[in-house]
Amino acid sequence: MAKVFYDQDVNWDVLKGKTVAIVGYGSQGHAHALNLKDNGVDVVVGLYAGSHSAAKAQAAGLAVKTVADAVAAADVTMVLIPDEKQADVYQSEIKPNLKPGSALAFAHGFNIHFKQIVPPADVDVFMVAPKGPGHLVRRTFVEGGGVPDVFAVEQDATGTCFDLALAYARGIGGTRAGVIQTSFQEETETDLFGEQAVLCGGICQLITNGFETLCEAGYQPEIAYFETFHEMKLIVDLMYEGGMAKMRKSISDTAEYGDYTSGSRVVTPASKQAMKDVLADIQSGAFAKDWLLENRAGGRAHFLAMRRQHAEHPLEKVGAKLRDMMPWLHDADQKD
Ligand code: NDP
Ligand code: MG
Ligand code: MG
Repeated sequence: MAKVFYDQDVNWDVLKGKTVAIVGYGSQGHAHALNLKDNGVDVVVGLYAGSHSAAKAQAAGLAVKTVADAVAAADVTMVLIPDEKQADVYQSEIKPNLKPGSALAFAHGFNIHFKQIVPPADVDVFMVAPKGPGHLVRRTFVEGGGVPDVFAVEQDATGTCFDLALAYARGIGGTRAGVIQTSFQEETETDLFGEQAVLCGGICQLITNGFETLCEAGYQPEIAYFETFHEMKLIVDLMYEGGMAKMRKSISDTAEYGDYTSGSRVVTPASKQAMKDVLADIQSGAFAKDWLLENRAGGRAHFLAMRRQHAEHPLEKVGAKLRDMMPWLHDADQKD
């Protein structure tokens, strides 16, 4: 089992008196900036001229500068803009202003692992990646808790990078919940695999196939939606709270029996082989190459076409109609 680090394991002194530049003020950016500030760290937010986020950061009492000026003023630069924009911003604004002996940090390993960003040898490079979206990182912190993080040291130029990464994790509240060490390679590959094979790609395709199977057999789409999509959240919430065992305790014995006998007929050894193929494409860099090309040369044409096509699926149309009958679902959205 992995070692878990908590507040008492942190050498907070390595962050004392240091200035942290938070580049980007979106989901993660606002949470990191505000939590660090509340912990007494000197924070400056780096944004481009005309950024929509600048007013929000200023209203929260944060200093806002250009990315170049924020990096020049910083001992630690945390890069929290969308992954596909990071390499360009690094080249034009971050790299020319990075001080030797300072640290460059990320919340996801993609650009370092796939060498889209190659930092100079005289800076520390670390990752602190919260295992939750930014609004949860902020909300739990305000409530006195935290979201668990994973952290990694890619390059230790100063000899203190491990301590610095842990101190940063404490600064955003992560060590209140516990943080686990990983590597840029492990975090990047497992993150991409999880979202592609299971969390996003796998689950969406599973639901879509289930919905289509019922509709093609002549059942009403509204009923198909309830049975293959709407109830997913109830099931996942139970698994999230207490493992598959809690979910299985809560469903009927009939449902549990069907779970054991039919699950492996649907998600088969062939699906597992497909998962291994997906993982191989991630490990070889083929997926990263494809996605970077889509962003650069392709102007995202294929990506945007797929987005449009999926949004037009009957499942989405019937879902929108049914969700309008359940206004409390929209209220739940607002809560976070
Ligand atoms: P967001 O998409 O929320 O970040 C958008 C922010 O970046 C906005 O403030 C935007 O400004 C700003 N921005 C965009 N382009 C530039 C630019 N050229 N220069 C300066 N600022 C810019 O990102 P996330 O918070 O989702 O992701 C940040 C990092 O965190 C990524 O590496 C991601 O993988 C990682 N991560 C994200 C998680 C999540 O739940 N979202 C979870 C864990 C890690 P404007 O408002 O003007 O557009
Ligand atoms: Mg991801
Ligand atoms: Mg049922």
